[in-house]
Amino acid sequence: MFEVKKNLKLYKDDMLEAMEGVGHFFTTRFGGISGASGNLFNASFSRETDPESYKVRENAAIAAFAEDLPKERFTSVKQVHGDRVLKVTEEIAGARFGKPELVIEADAMITDIPMTPLFTTHGDCVPVYIYAKGTAVGMAHSGWRGCALGIAGKTAAAMSREYGVSPKEMFCAVGPSICRKCFEIDEPVYRELREAFPDEELYTYNCVNNKYYADLGGMVLQSLTDAGVPQENISLGGVCTCCSENRELFFSYRGEKGKNEGLMGAAIWLR
Ligand SMILES: [Zn+2]
Repeated sequence: MFEVKKNLKLYKDDMLEAMEGVGHFFTTRFGGISGASGNLFNASFSRETDPESYKVRENAAIAAFAEDLPKERFTSVKQVHGDRVLKVTEEIAGARFGKPELVIEADAMITDIPMTPLFTTHGDCVPVYIYAKGTAVGMAHSGWRGCALGIAGKTAAAMSREYGVSPKEMFCAVGPSICRKCFEIDEPVYRELREAFPDEELYTYNCVNNKYYADLGGMVLQSLTDAGVPQENISLGGVCTCCSENRELFFSYRGEKGKNEGLMGAAIWLR
């Protein structure tokens, strides 16, 4: 569902939103100060031409204001399409925001510290939100490489290991990301994904253009259930960032052929 909070339009997963003890959001294209038009909400430092990247921090501050969060506690990483899960301790909390000099390469974060939003950026890649009831949260960025590496399941496993919570007590949401109709892939990518996820249900082959299509959300679901999260605890929002009817709402790397002026931000925090 979409929610407008203090002029900022945010997407929220229905299952997570109904839970106490956790907050989360996914930003949309407008409502910030980025881009040539000056009204875009770009969440990514790598997409900002301004070397000071103050606009990204200002955009995050707008989201913090909308959600009554301390802006200096926003914590982010430099995403590299890998499978490193960063445990956010008090020393790391605020990385890239309250602590702008702290830049750590990773594609997922976990924490048990309240009011510390774990913030990742997305422009088709799957945002994976994980909530272990009352104990911890996790946020993962899973493009096709992250999917092949099983980053979603590895994030759940890291939460289990670090915070002693069973995956059975975790609730997960797959946020807005590219759908299988939009996600056309070449043979080498298909082969790599197929090695990690052999289930043919996750792919479509089109014999007219000789292309494959892959279901990244379905792979995240499988990765999480393989890690022990019950399927009924996983919410698949089914919102595509690339489908043409959503172009007004979201940036899409694929849909805009890499010319997207920004990326969306995904955040989860313990209340
Ligand atoms: Zn689509």
